[in-house]
Amino acid sequence: MTSAGRFAPSPSGELHVGNLRTAILAWLFARSTGRSFLLRMEDLDRARAGAEAVQLRDLAAMGVTWDGDVVRQTDRESLYAQAIGRLEEAGLTYECFCTRREIQEAPSAPHSPQGAYPGTCRDLDPAELEYKRSMRPAAIRLRAGVADYTVRDVLRGEYTGAVDDFVLRRSDGVTAYNLAVVVDDAEQGIDQVVRGDDLLPSTPRQAYLASLLSIPVPEYAHVPLVVNHDGARLAKRDGAVTLADLAAEGITSGAVRDCLLDSLGLPPGPLERALAVFDPSRLPREPWVWSAP
Ligand code: GLU
Repeated sequence: MTSAGRFAPSPSGELHVGNLRTAILAWLFARSTGRSFLLRMEDLDRARAGAEAVQLRDLAAMGVTWDGDVVRQTDRESLYAQAIGRLEEAGLTYECFCTRREIQEAPSAPHSPQGAYPGTCRDLDPAELEYKRSMRPAAIRLRAGVADYTVRDVLRGEYTGAVDDFVLRRSDGVTAYNLAVVVDDAEQGIDQVVRGDDLLPSTPRQAYLASLLSIPVPEYAHVPLVVNHDGARLAKRDGAVTLADLAAEGITSGAVRDCLLDSLGLPPGPLERALAVFDPSRLPREPWVWSAP
């Protein structure tokens, strides 16, 4: 299988300039290392009708090109079920009946990190299990054998983060992001994952899960986010932050692309020009404060 990089947006609405900047970076990382570049719609959750087409149009307007067809997670449930089945057979899963509220209110296990699942359903006896099954549908959790895991990131170096008994399949039957992302990256031959550094804390969970599934861990590069003037992650409420909003103010997609490239210390114009001089070691390591060109 050829090696590939990817961009994997959730089609929940329009991409904003922060998402577009990350997509450009993912494209530059992949193309500068001779990888193909794939696009995957993470539509298991939060998908909105029409959003995918707008996202693809906006990526194309930036000059981001992709290979092959766009893959959608909703077409891939059988792959996720197979992976969960393998973990189940290995005794690495359990059913969990806790509501979000119950998890919040449960005393946390000693030495476990903030927000970690406290393990309430980890060792239910058969009678309890039968009773709980009669009350509610179960989520499937991983029976994690470690409390933390270390990954290597091209930009961030070694990063160690918590691994808890995270959810693999939600009680409504929807596959959880952490499982789907690991299965998809492996199945699509993706060996380079470039994404926003808000996802760095999830990465040890994903790499640990890959190790349990005997899947090679990809190369990671978590890139700094675009933030608003208050330093908070950019969001739709921060004004004109999508190509459509900016076009309404007379700012072309070419001007937006050039502004994003400039924020990365890269030359304006078609992405191929930036590609010719792209050097990950010279990328800014700080969040970038958005201001319209
Ligand atoms: N779908 C996720 C998002 O849009 C990104 C997942 C990833 O790149 O691994 O935030």
